[in-house]
Amino acid sequence: MELQVYNTLTRKKEVFKPLHAPNVGMYVCGPTVYGDPHLGHARPAITFDILFRTLKYLGYKVRYVRNITDVGHLENDADSGEDKIAKKARLEQIEPMEVVQYYLNRYHKAMEALGVLPPSIEPHASGHIIEQIEFIQKIFDNGWAYESEGSVYFDVEKYAKQHHYGKLSGRNIDELLETTRDLDGQEEKRNSFDFALWKKAAPEHIMHWRSPWSEGFPGWHLECSAMGTKYLGEQFDIHGGGMDLLFPHHECEIAQSVGATGKESVRYWLHNNMITINGKKMGKSLGNFITLEEFFTGAHPILAQAYTPMTIRFFILQAHYRSTVDFSNEALQASEKGLERLLEGYARLQKLQPAGVSTVEVKGLKSKCEEALLDDLNTPIVISQLFEAIKHINAATDGKATFNAEDLQELQATFKLFVEDLLGLQSTANETSNEAYKKAVDLLLEIRLQAKQNKDWATSDKIRKQLAEYGFQVKDTKDGFEWSL
Ligand code: ZN
Repeated sequence: MELQVYNTLTRKKEVFKPLHAPNVGMYVCGPTVYGDPHLGHARPAITFDILFRTLKYLGYKVRYVRNITDVGHLENDADSGEDKIAKKARLEQIEPMEVVQYYLNRYHKAMEALGVLPPSIEPHASGHIIEQIEFIQKIFDNGWAYESEGSVYFDVEKYAKQHHYGKLSGRNIDELLETTRDLDGQEEKRNSFDFALWKKAAPEHIMHWRSPWSEGFPGWHLECSAMGTKYLGEQFDIHGGGMDLLFPHHECEIAQSVGATGKESVRYWLHNNMITINGKKMGKSLGNFITLEEFFTGAHPILAQAYTPMTIRFFILQAHYRSTVDFSNEALQASEKGLERLLEGYARLQKLQPAGVSTVEVKGLKSKCEEALLDDLNTPIVISQLFEAIKHINAATDGKATFNAEDLQELQATFKLFVEDLLGLQSTANETSNEAYKKAVDLLLEIRLQAKQNKDWATSDKIRKQLAEYGFQVKDTKDGFEWSL
């Protein structure tokens, strides 16, 4: 089985061949943790979760690194403005790391709800300052950087004379010269398009570290180069992220790696497209900024109702990751219905009994789904194949079709593989029934407690003994009881 991925760098679909099979190194730009987790976080997380699951399914041993941007991420391209974490910390009079942890906890909670598997390593930029300084030193020693007023900048003009700066984003340096001239007015740079590797901290800046150049902080693009190299080596397989990161972030990462090691670090660059809301870019100033928690609770004027995390996941998977997705209540409601139909069909499938013969052909389903997934993660086609099979499952439930034992078993295994393991869709019906079951056990134990208080030993003993027989462990505590299975 071969996986084809669209490589942004070569602008074509390529067969994925890892550098050191069966090991695969994958780096994805993670969240900046100074704001609410929102829809913009969901799409890359879900896209690369599908890739992570697919690679593991293909038998690769994947080291998936997704960083936490918690320092030096300023306005625009990290060269100017104020560190947003430090700003929040100062306004709320708390430690910058409290700001980071607060948003990171919420991010993790939202990702778990969305069924996103945790990465193998989640390094913080703030925990890798030494690595970043060493990386700058290498670029500096190789002559691709210059120091100015305690800050260090990457010399883009010099680099572009020998290397193709703009190869990933398709921008060219003359164009950049036109568009970036006079924009930021930073005289200490030789060229307006040079980007910061290290910035000298202003006196009011809370987060700063000692370096050979000044007391300061690293530029934003640097953390991904430094941490990617540390955990995946100088050259690794996959680097992913949202399309909004193509330039300058990823373009600068390429220049930094070549500057430090003489080699390009990444084989396959993958980018997910953006999400719009009712046709417009999401933004705080447009009043259409919706956090993930607001989606889950429905607490936003734009939302007609709450949407479960699985509806959001399903909605995102219904589009190919390289096409744009537009969120609207109508579209989400359609996804909600679609997901319900899929999961109901899956539940029915598990209850079907085998017959002597199959009256419909379902044998090809697994290979059709596989083919779609391995074709640059074409999840909408996988979903449409599953829906085709649902028609037959519904017919079988109504007694209008039958499956023999072998076909039924294969169908059940294929649904489990694609719905649960690869698309990561969980039944919310399961969550609800889990809740109901916990409540029922609690109720039973409350009745037992009452019986004990009434000295009705026969009832209390019966409940305890029976539950023990079913595999429950009940412990009496001073506030009541605890149980486990
Ligand atoms: Zn990055």
